[in-house]
Amino acid sequence: MLPITAYVCPSPNPGHCAGSSRHSVTDPKRPKRQNGLRLEELSLPPSRDELANYQDMPVDDLPETYKRHNDQRVFCNRNLDLSNIEYCGFDMDYTLAEYISPAVEELTYSLIVDRLLEMGYDEELKQFRFNPDFTIRGLIIDLKLGNILKTDGYGFILRVYHGNQLLPWEQVIERYPSTFLYSHEIGSKRFNVVNTLFALPETSLFADMVSYFDNHEKYTRTDDHLGVQRGQVYLSYESMYTDLRHAVDKVHEKGYLKNEIAANLPRYVKQDPALPLLLHRFRQVGKGLFVVTNSDYKYTQTIMSFLFDVEVPDELKGKSWKDYFDVIIVSARKPAFFSDTGTALREVDQETGALKLGEYTGSSPHGRVFAGGSVEHLNFLLQCEGKRILYAGDHIFGDVLKSKKLSGWRTFLIMPELRQEFEGLRRSAPHYEHLKNLEFMLAEVYRGLASDTQEQPSTTELIKDLDNTAVAIDGSFNKYFGSAFRSGTKQSLFARQSQQYADLYSSTLLNLIHYPLFYMFNSAMDELPHEGRGWREHLENHNKINRRSPQVNRA
Ligand code: IMP
Ligand code: MG
Repeated sequence: MLPITAYVCPSPNPGHCAGSSRHSVTDPKRPKRQNGLRLEELSLPPSRDELANYQDMPVDDLPETYKRHNDQRVFCNRNLDLSNIEYCGFDMDYTLAEYISPAVEELTYSLIVDRLLEMGYDEELKQFRFNPDFTIRGLIIDLKLGNILKTDGYGFILRVYHGNQLLPWEQVIERYPSTFLYSHEIGSKRFNVVNTLFALPETSLFADMVSYFDNHEKYTRTDDHLGVQRGQVYLSYESMYTDLRHAVDKVHEKGYLKNEIAANLPRYVKQDPALPLLLHRFRQVGKGLFVVTNSDYKYTQTIMSFLFDVEVPDELKGKSWKDYFDVIIVSARKPAFFSDTGTALREVDQETGALKLGEYTGSSPHGRVFAGGSVEHLNFLLQCEGKRILYAGDHIFGDVLKSKKLSGWRTFLIMPELRQEFEGLRRSAPHYEHLKNLEFMLAEVYRGLASDTQEQPSTTELIKDLDNTAVAIDGSFNKYFGSAFRSGTKQSLFARQSQQYADLYSSTLLNLIHYPLFYMFNSAMDELPHEGRGWREHLENHNKINRRSPQVNRA
């Protein structure tokens, strides 16, 4: 039996435990309870008898649970028991295939610029360079006003850039008097959400174009704030964005990007021997695997062959990437794939890449490659549906939101940006502590006051300090937009959507290799404000615990 200290192992290396606890639970001076077993006396997992005899300890005295290193962790918004999952599905681009950043974004950016030049834009655009710091996922592009917005999870505007220029708050109020976007506006024709890592270069380029034309000596900004003018020629921000979107589609659909990546694979795509190993382990425990990608067959074949061309254990030598999967669907057209508007399912001729409509009943789909179709076709091929499927993808809308809302799949969102977030969290930790203290003080100001209190206490200084601290926290992350997940005390749209639709999330799919494949991912229980307070107050009285409060110098 493992000792209890296995739970509190500080080592980032799973399975390697130092055997010493930093926590007081093993403190020999702690008085032994009169009735029942103590936490450190339980075996792991505890037996039914032990649980029956176990005496609860105060919540705040519970030891830290064993933690993997943050960079290796898979985080969990909702409980998910891997042993209940029958099929694991994967998106390809930015999921199975991790692109090397910012090399791929720089390439995409310059290819889009080339297409814009072909469409008649000034040669000067050739001087533009992708700024990897400028954009984060979850931002909203206002095509009409040429702005890029960060909102909280409910649509309240937190920050606005016009082109590359931060708008002073007075101007934000002028442009958006309610400082709020309705939920039906978010994702509408006017307000486009940056849902995928593929969209970072075009977002950055849109801001560069707006700034370029705004500041160009031959153009003047129009009074309606909707664009620029040169003589009689009017160029709206919206038309710039339309041109930009055409250029982006061309870059993706006409092979400009894919050919360049395919010709320089090691420069743009990460290889990792953990990928075949992880998929092999899934198969060993009886899980089915599938791929659903929007990429076409030729590109999928190129990328996947490269990803699996790595050192593997002897038993995996000679296996093709296709051998790992039960069903492979390319050109899937997500998000339509998840709705009634999915296309007809075709089979791909793996020699020529040609498509043919076929019959799929009877014979196993293993080893065959399909194109298009819909989730209904997939359910038929897998003979499985809904919550028994876990799907990993990077597109918050096309992979995660739609698959959960329309098909009830369990979802795993890939977020490489978590790596930078941890760096920002480390840098902002002292500000975070200060923020928590200020919040405590703000609550204290009103403590004991009731409706008979006549004089309103002044909180101006406190609130100013709170605002400044929130700004300092933001400054520890992306220097333009702050953290992808929040601004000060408010969660961003990206955070809210991922929390709502992604059951699991991690910086890379490969982090699953650090977990047993029967793992029970447990999320902290969501507590409503009244529940936490009600429980804690009762437990405090019951256990006579003096809860620690921040050290506040009231002098
Ligand atoms: P997935 O992530 O594996 O489903 O594949 C994404 C596919 O969509 C890739 O082939 C991309 O080249 C393509 N793609 C990404 N963004 C765009 C776009 O804006 N227009 C057209 N194709 C896109
Ligand atoms: Mg993808």
